[in-house]
Amino acid sequence: MTGFGETGFGELWETLLPLGRDPETGGYRRYSYTDADLACREWFASAAAQRGMRASTDRNGNLWAWWEGPGSSGKAVLTGSHLDSVPDGGAYDGPLGVVSAFAAIDQLRARGFAPARPVAVAAFCEEEGGRFGLACLGSRLLTGATDPAAAGELRDGDGVTLAEAMAGAGLDPQEIGPDEDLLSGIGAAVELHIEQGSALGGLGAAVGIAEGIWPHGRWRLDFTGRADHAGTTRLADRRDPMLPYAAAVLEARQAASSCGALATIGKVTAEPGAANAISSSVRAWLDARAPDQGVLDHMVGQIESAARRAADAQGVEVGVRRESFTPPVEFDPALRARLAAALDARGIVAPVLPTGAGHDAGVLAARLPAAMLFVRNPSGVSHSPAEHAEPGDCAAGVTALAAVIEELAG
Ligand SMILES: [Zn+2]
Repeated sequence: MTGFGETGFGELWETLLPLGRDPETGGYRRYSYTDADLACREWFASAAAQRGMRASTDRNGNLWAWWEGPGSSGKAVLTGSHLDSVPDGGAYDGPLGVVSAFAAIDQLRARGFAPARPVAVAAFCEEEGGRFGLACLGSRLLTGATDPAAAGELRDGDGVTLAEAMAGAGLDPQEIGPDEDLLSGIGAAVELHIEQGSALGGLGAAVGIAEGIWPHGRWRLDFTGRADHAGTTRLADRRDPMLPYAAAVLEARQAASSCGALATIGKVTAEPGAANAISSSVRAWLDARAPDQGVLDHMVGQIESAARRAADAQGVEVGVRRESFTPPVEFDPALRARLAAALDARGIVAPVLPTGAGHDAGVLAARLPAAMLFVRNPSGVSHSPAEHAEPGDCAAGVTALAAVIEELAG
């Protein structure tokens, strides 16, 4: 617990750390509405209770804790992040923002700050899309960015719908959807998050301010060929979907490199999946991100063309379907300027960085002024058990977030 600074950060961090951690891999499996997630929800409620903060769950399963001083009124300052994880995710992606939010409030209270506006700490549900496949689901539902009826029918890998999972956790799935009352009470949102790259390390800074989020999306590629015997089918007679799939993987790397963008095929399934058979079908998922929409469209087009050319050459059918898309986000310039000024006034050096990763703050940005703080990640590794932030940098993040809340809620 040492090194985290003089706030409640260390204690809170240590109590959250064991929840949902897989003993074999050391990674986190905090999927929405599973036992691990329910334990995280209890942890959140208890962190709020320890601070005398009113806690609630909204109709979309997002968690809220409110700090309201006797004199606070007007629109709230929202901070926080998420507690769910990708499969075998790291400890910091999401939880760092939630723990830092509570710790920043501890720090402000310790120095006698009384907020003129309410301060809300939120933990958004299903940010990673780790169970139901749609990233930032909780904030999308809250803001009306996704259709509630379709969301309720989203299924996990076992065929359980979001509606069923919510009902199992004691929530009413009939209630999901935009919450204008809640949204209209929020004046600004600031999410603190571990950096998912190593730019801050290169700049020698512990914290940074996000400039915006690259447009990004997920495409599903379905290659359909013909299953056959690996030992008896002549090469000329094969319709092997693995070959155009491989061409798509290689083109994704090539196109990303030439476009100054990012493209990744990180998930693939093959049917029937036998070591001694040609596959009948291969399904792969392309994740693509670029500095702007034009570059993204161009890059995905190149990858799709390469897949189609290679599929034609092998007598394989190919289908390409966009599963999700997030347009570019520019965080509110005026809010960013206030963050920069508040940090600068305290001698905190905070460079401005773009990011290719989606966040709840990016979804909220469509409806209200939103901004993000990043905390240095020495290796840049994220979505992995190796993700890390130094205790001193976590403390610097808490101090920076406290300065920002003081500026916005003062
Ligand atoms: Zn995250």
